[in-house]
Amino acid sequence: MENLFYFYLFAAFIFGLIVGSFLNVVIYRLPRGKSVASPAFSFCPSCGQKIKWYDNIPVLSYLILKGRCRHCGNRIGLRYPFVEILTGIASVAALWKTGLSIDYIFVFLFLALMIAITFIDIDFKIIPDEINFIGAVSGLIYSFFRTDFSWIDALIGAAVGAGFLFGIAYFYLKFRGIEGLGMGDVKMMAFVGTYIGWFGSLFTIFFGSLLGAVVGILGAYLSKSEDKGRFEIPFGPFLAFASVIYLFFGETIKSWYFGG
Ligand SMILES: [Zn+2]
Repeated sequence: MENLFYFYLFAAFIFGLIVGSFLNVVIYRLPRGKSVASPAFSFCPSCGQKIKWYDNIPVLSYLILKGRCRHCGNRIGLRYPFVEILTGIASVAALWKTGLSIDYIFVFLFLALMIAITFIDIDFKIIPDEINFIGAVSGLIYSFFRTDFSWIDALIGAAVGAGFLFGIAYFYLKFRGIEGLGMGDVKMMAFVGTYIGWFGSLFTIFFGSLLGAVVGILGAYLSKSEDKGRFEIPFGPFLAFASVIYLFFGETIKSWYFGG
């Protein structure tokens, strides 16, 4: 039985690599306004050549081609295999947490969407509505399968997460005259709230802000730019990271906080 579970973990890793390969497509196309579904094949971003299936095997093709396009020889970003491996690990972590159950699908979906958000936000400083929408709807659907969490918890989580961050964004704009937070972050918190509830949402905002502040200060300090005050970092990746921490360790965090 135990050996079988290791086999499932391995299968989950392979499945994660494949999903990661698809996430690379999403990360590239979605913010550029291109269709995620068609064309079904990928192009080299440098020369536009169609990439054959055997050159599109997660991680392996990258290694075989030594990180270069077969046609034009231009470098393929290390980002591609990195996202694939990261998604593979996310899939294993999801299965490790949930065991073989329907929960795996939702927990892995949550992690996969967070990976897409992270890299799109880094590249474009936006979080596509499509991702937040799929996330929020899936979180709501998931709540009907859960015993520890109802659809009311999901809706309250969404309202508190989005509402609280919207409040911060509003005051930021009003008193400092800076648009420090985008609506994408606010909508993302609605998605996050449907999975981890109101307490998880607040944790995500506070812990994400703390991480963002630390990295922001470090970044501004290390940055050679004259314009240190305006060193800008996307908030989405920090919210994503904090929400994933809560998804996995929420019970522990809660009992620390409430002294249980
Ligand atoms: Zn090429």
